[in-house]
Amino acid sequence: MRPSKCIRAAVAAAAAVLLASAGGCREGGDQRPVSRTQLLLGTNSTIIVHGGDPGDEVFDRAFARVREIQDLMSLQYKDSELNEVNRKTGVEPVHVSEETFHVVETALEYAERTHGTFNVALGPIIKAWGISGDNPRRPPNEEIEELLTLIDYREVELDYDARSVFLRKEGMVLDLGGIAKGYAADEAARVLVEHGVEHALVDFGGDIRAVGRRPDGERWRIGIQDPADPSRGVFVGVLSLEQPSVVTSGDYERFLEIEDESFHHIIDPDTGFPAQAGLRSVTIETGNTMLADIHSTAVFVLGLERGLSYIEAQNGVEAILVTDDDEVHITDGLRSTFELREDSRYRLAERP
Ligand code: AMP
Ligand code: MG
Repeated sequence: MRPSKCIRAAVAAAAAVLLASAGGCREGGDQRPVSRTQLLLGTNSTIIVHGGDPGDEVFDRAFARVREIQDLMSLQYKDSELNEVNRKTGVEPVHVSEETFHVVETALEYAERTHGTFNVALGPIIKAWGISGDNPRRPPNEEIEELLTLIDYREVELDYDARSVFLRKEGMVLDLGGIAKGYAADEAARVLVEHGVEHALVDFGGDIRAVGRRPDGERWRIGIQDPADPSRGVFVGVLSLEQPSVVTSGDYERFLEIEDESFHHIIDPDTGFPAQAGLRSVTIETGNTMLADIHSTAVFVLGLERGLSYIEAQNGVEAILVTDDDEVHITDGLRSTFELREDSRYRLAERP
């Protein structure tokens, strides 16, 4: 039966996208960039290689690595290693691969550091909303209340000797949706380098990672999408960076609309509801894409003031925050590399 309410679920295009070229000029000789896209990790995953075609095999190997990560860490893929851990919740520890262990360990370290704002044990609530799945819904308040008792990340037990993960309380669910894409981008970049690629960009639905610099000496240009108009090609502004590793989290990336209410995919673990901290998007730049992925999700939940203090306390992390009232806040390290779009509705916030 069709629902009588107006329900719309959407997965928008990437949160930040690569702009083809700095000034429209061709790279040395006839070496146009070569790109391939595959639907992986629930998003369009694109690899663009500059400075010569590396051949199909190199692309295939990089994508194969991403598929491996998806098969290990995706909540959506029934047979993933992660879901084996989730099936044995409250029953017994599950021995996992080195990489799953590493990602879960990092996620828990940041759960601790953010006092649970970044929380990989949010699975029960994320599943209840189902915003990244086929049947999104708004769970009743009582259901959310009940599920909030099952999201304590301190109940996730790691055994370093046995390399196992154990969810102590029955009903707990791990979800790595806020970290795995960033890890996959780093891994795809590593495989490209291993196969001799010197200049490339990996763009996994807005998690962007460069391999080397552009061969023409220009900077890579990354458009930060307009949260109010997330169609491809409409930007708040453009970042120009030599070797970016940039991740954006935004409320327009995945959401559910019921009548005139909108519910997005980034959950405030204190309430079990989509975070409403006054931000529309958070873009993080730092050397490691997996960490950028964590920070962007965490800062989105923290909001402007707490988010900026959090970033300040990290080493080598820069950010662009777009607020509900169309202000753009940029940390010092990115100021000279960001260009606001000329006729933009957004305005740069004054320095504090
Ligand atoms: P991102 O798009 O990187 O901000 O990650 C959002 C995804 O991370 C969601 O689709 C969920 O799978 C998961 N998630 C949502 N809220 C949180 C949170 N507070 N902490 C950790 N992961 C979250
Ligand atoms: Mg994230």
